[in-house]
Amino acid sequence: MKLKFNINSNVVKSKNNLEIARKYHHYDNVESIHVTANEDVYHIDAVVSVFNHPQKCSLDIKDNQVISYECSCPFNDQDSMCGHLGAVILKLNELEINEFPFDYQSDKLQKIKEIEKENKRQRRKAQLRQMASMSTKLIDFNKSQYQTDLYLSINQEKYDLTPNVYLNRDEIVLEYKIGNEKKYVLKNITDFIERIQNQENYKYGKALEFVHSEKSFTDDALKQIDLMKKALIIRHHDMEEYPYYYEPIKRSITIDSRLFDEFYDANKEIFSLGEMECNLRLYIQKEDEYYIVRVTVVDPIYIGDKHGYCYGMNNGEFYMNRMTFDEEGNVCRFLSSILDNEGKLIILEEQYQDFYKYVLLPILSYFEVFDETQNDIPTYDEIKIYGDNFIRNLMKLSVYLEKRCIEFRYEKICRYKRHN
Ligand SMILES: [Zn+2]
Repeated sequence: MKLKFNINSNVVKSKNNLEIARKYHHYDNVESIHVTANEDVYHIDAVVSVFNHPQKCSLDIKDNQVISYECSCPFNDQDSMCGHLGAVILKLNELEINEFPFDYQSDKLQKIKEIEKENKRQRRKAQLRQMASMSTKLIDFNKSQYQTDLYLSINQEKYDLTPNVYLNRDEIVLEYKIGNEKKYVLKNITDFIERIQNQENYKYGKALEFVHSEKSFTDDALKQIDLMKKALIIRHHDMEEYPYYYEPIKRSITIDSRLFDEFYDANKEIFSLGEMECNLRLYIQKEDEYYIVRVTVVDPIYIGDKHGYCYGMNNGEFYMNRMTFDEEGNVCRFLSSILDNEGKLIILEEQYQDFYKYVLLPILSYFEVFDETQNDIPTYDEIKIYGDNFIRNLMKLSVYLEKRCIEFRYEKICRYKRHN
């Protein structure tokens, strides 16, 4: 048995509401219909969804006549049913009902779900595309690396850096030009080092454009590049410590004591920098229970990390001379602390032996010593160490205190530095 309703649409008395009902019907806004039968009365519960707002409504039908209706919307009243109910009636007339309870579900929901599913698929696709961009970047990077290497192996030309040095008050300032025949001023050293690290192509002017890489510079230029890198590290450190005082290095590097050694090594030949004799005097005096150690320098010197320097301008030419000290920096450490302290150190009598042994003894050969204390400080002259060649690279070391052997052992020779 099939049931088909045939309810006259003029049951919606308001023309306006009927018009709205037709629109709801046309746009498939009736979401669901549930029909139950009680003898000859059919009860209908429906949901009509407009702009995502679901509205519940219900009606009772007997012999294709509406005997009661209910909807809580403001357009439903005693005089006329609302558009919601009208749409339900129009839909109801289309349905073929074969059993009770009967359920109708709009396939619009299904369509929305499909649209959502499709959107989700598109989003996933976009997400994958986004994720794949990482590997695209890798490919691009390696590709450009490959091209750079190829370019560098074809283009054998190596470029030079020409330093220019001048004094600003008593500070050494260093600037550069880049290029071989035609030279250009290096306007930003920070950017320049970054270009090398990123292997960037850069054009300085009509006559100079090349891919920056350590391979594209002469050995002399590489020394300057190392100096620049150390200067950048020091500046970076200073900027973190004193952010209001320092700014990034641009055109010029100020050479302070932390850069003296590197500056000298990189520029020794270019500016024919010289050597100088150690002209340091060390005086040791005793006063009551204190020892006083004083240092005097004949010429004023600047102390680097490892070596001492004097520099200045002479007839418009920059000069710098190095006083070579020990590679461990012991002399410089001692000189820095004593010169910062008005050229003298006071040592307690009971600490003097240790001071002599650990501080003075390793550096004494760099000074002309005037010891006025006449003290019996052990100079360790009586300790002698003998080394004998033994099997292959093993050496027998014997330690003699005065004439008595107090210790010997075998050591691998390669662990010892040669001392002349
Ligand atoms: Zn309504």
